Amino acid sequence: MKNTIFVTEPSLPPLAEFIPYLEEIWENKWLTNNGQFHQQFEQALAEYLGVRYVSLFTNGMIALQIGLQALRITGEVITTPFTFVATTHAIHWNSCTPVFCDIDPVTYNLDADKLESLITPKTTAIMPVHVYGNPCNVEKLQRIADTYGLKLFYDAAHAFGVRTHGESVLNFGDLSMLSFHATKVFNTFEGGALITNEPKLKQRIDFLKNFGFAGETTVVAPGANGKMDEFRAAFGLLQLKHIDEEIAKTRRVAERYRAALAEVPGITLMEDLPNVVHNYGYFPILVDEVRYGLSRDALYDKLKANGYYGRRYFYPLSSQFPSYRHLPSAEPGRMPVAEAITERVICLPIFANLADECVDRIAMLIKDVEGEISEGNCA
Ligand SMILES: *Cc1c(COP(=O)(O)O)cnc(C)c1O
Repeated sequence: MKNTIFVTEPSLPPLAEFIPYLEEIWENKWLTNNGQFHQQFEQALAEYLGVRYVSLFTNGMIALQIGLQALRITGEVITTPFTFVATTHAIHWNSCTPVFCDIDPVTYNLDADKLESLITPKTTAIMPVHVYGNPCNVEKLQRIADTYGLKLFYDAAHAFGVRTHGESVLNFGDLSMLSFHATKVFNTFEGGALITNEPKLKQRIDFLKNFGFAGETTVVAPGANGKMDEFRAAFGLLQLKHIDEEIAKTRRVAERYRAALAEVPGITLMEDLPNVVHNYGYFPILVDEVRYGLSRDALYDKLKANGYYGRRYFYPLSSQFPSYRHLPSAEPGRMPVAEAITERVICLPIFANLADECVDRIAMLIKDVEGEISEGNCA
């Protein structure tokens, strides 16, 4: 029987290490609302990431929604179609209109060179995504935001621990969102955070994630409930002790793939970017059907038939879903780079404990274009 290898497998610490944290929670009987683990985890994360303020959330989606509220974004928000739908949905849930901008052919991030022509009198913010943890063109985006008086809010769901020129990528813009969902590099089962350098913004975010309460009887805004509980904050504290080792192991997997797939005609790999510390959360490849000899979907199906479940992140484009495809900026032909990449991309399985034999089998299946079946399964 074949075991299935999914695109990722969550990192979990040894269970025994978590028990003392649980005992403490049972002892204190303080389960949520800014408890001691919540406070410790916010502090520890800020230190680990090299950022000023962290506000923890119960998931990344609500962090995006509350971030937009905290920044008082209205009207039109320029964003990328090459992302997980949560980015676009958050804009919609805040009664704003997403305006889609094409992506850069090297990083697959919102193309700062194509952004200015989309700005209208209704534009109030730019919402780019550091896709696969590759940093956006942060300097150019900041220049444009400053020139036009726009807010800059990064969806950094993929960018845990990523650094550019020695600086956390989370320090750019007005606000950044992290996701600690089970499938992300760093997980708390579900979870998320907003990162800012602004103390007043941090305070407003903390009010908004707790129903707008600013004191026992003072409600300053129509907030929501986005709080992270003590269970997951404690788990996050423990995860932090292991994350460096997990990322180092995942990096070795990426290097093994790169060595094995370096010279396959029609298969393009993403290389590490200069002056960037990566987290190796994703291993995207691009399939050029003509040069490779199989379509992207044919290769995806073949890997799946052998028990290796890659994912076509991000296909379809967010702008192609029924909720958004009527928008003028979503019209086919307006984003040629995004439209091409979404048809060619597969993210291969990658995680800290992916065995060398699995990487080798997956690489073999890709290299053996004609072959259908690999001998046995690696797991
Ligand atoms: C995972 C993800 C989110 C949503 O985060 P959750 O914690 O799952 O709510 C948002 N944006 C992107 C780009 C993501 O990959």
